[in-house]
Amino acid sequence: MEKEPLRALINVAQLLKEPVGSSQSYDISGMIDEEVEGFIEGKAKLIHISQGVLVQCKLTTEVKLICSRCLDTFLFPISFTAEEAFLPVSDVPDDLALSSPEQSEEFTIDNKNILDLSELIRQYTLLNLPMKPLCRHDCPGVN
Ligand SMILES: [Zn+2]
Repeated sequence: MEKEPLRALINVAQLLKEPVGSSQSYDISGMIDEEVEGFIEGKAKLIHISQGVLVQCKLTTEVKLICSRCLDTFLFPISFTAEEAFLPVSDVPDDLALSSPEQSEEFTIDNKNILDLSELIRQYTLLNLPMKPLCRHDCPGVN
């Protein structure tokens, strides 16, 4: 079965016209190919909040890793839930973003009302990667 690349760009123009508290749900599914390669699927719920859009998602990915003992590639499953607020770019002053470190990983909605989930997916996937990947816990290593 041919797998499609992940479409991580979501246009929230319509959602932002609806009253605060309105929500839309999306099915997420596709191949990712950045620092890690793999397949991701799950659901994302976008909620219009006063500052922007709150994204709640529950995702499962299967990424290709290289075993640190035998150097074979294997598939490693990762599941995570994420909840992050995306703010319109114009509402995030540059100097504020620079001066407060806890704000520096702000997710944004660009001036065409496009919200990009790929950065969120990248961060959460990397966060859940094992330090020393093993294809199985008793991998004998290279013979
Ligand atoms: Zn191994």
